[in-house]
Amino acid sequence: MTQFLSLGSGSSGNCYYLKNGQHSILVDAGIPIRELRKILSNYGFPIEQVGAVFITHDHADHIKAVGHLANELGKPIYATEKVHIGINNNYCTTLKVTEASRRYLYKGEATQLGPFTITPFEVSHDSSDCVGYKIEIDGLTFCLATDVGEVTPAVADAIGQANYLVLEANHDTEMLEQGPYPPYLKNRIRSTRGHLSNQQCAEALATYASPNLRQVFLCHLSEENNHPELARKTVEAILRSYGIITGLDFQMEILNRQTPTGVFELN
Ligand SMILES: [Zn+2]
Ligand SMILES: [Zn+2]
Repeated sequence: MTQFLSLGSGSSGNCYYLKNGQHSILVDAGIPIRELRKILSNYGFPIEQVGAVFITHDHADHIKAVGHLANELGKPIYATEKVHIGINNNYCTTLKVTEASRRYLYKGEATQLGPFTITPFEVSHDSSDCVGYKIEIDGLTFCLATDVGEVTPAVADAIGQANYLVLEANHDTEMLEQGPYPPYLKNRIRSTRGHLSNQQCAEALATYASPNLRQVFLCHLSEENNHPELARKTVEAILRSYGIITGLDFQMEILNRQTPTGVFELN
């Protein structure tokens, strides 16, 4: 059995945990190390037992704790070469990731770690580089795509393969339009290297999800330009227009921005 925990999801910090038997990994490490340690320990998952850390991209909300995980806890950090360079150039990483802790990932090439087969895929976003992850465990496929500028064929493929899927629903298009952000920021978010809206997320699910999708977790909701209930309603309504009923065809959860979202059992 595999367990999944979201420790935080959104611009204030992203971090996801997966455990199978004695093996566990983190995907992204964008929350402060003390908090990361405390949350895992509260759920009975000692941080010392985490086997490796996989990073999607080098924005502060995904990498804050990465230097601590590498240097103080000796965790190997997996990322593409460009992301590794970006991590060490980022203002938020006071502790850098030394060469000894770096593991280099190549898009489309699988890495085996205990029961996890982890394959990064290209995601369009305005960082040094950005990947999503396809993680195969016990015959199940768990895919994660956060900070998604547009649904490219690689992202569509991951959605189609997933039994469990973490997918961005960053903003409501109307709220972003009417909201307080300056035009350059609105344009950045809307661009093909920005973030996925609730509407784009729903269309992607309706178009590419297979009948084998069991559960989707909406992630990286904006605090200013979205609301959990609005995201749920919007995505549900669009899916319904395609004849897809959440709760029946697949389950849907909204990941909390600042607090852990329980432990989900994937089986
Ligand atoms: Zn982000
Ligand atoms: Zn980002």
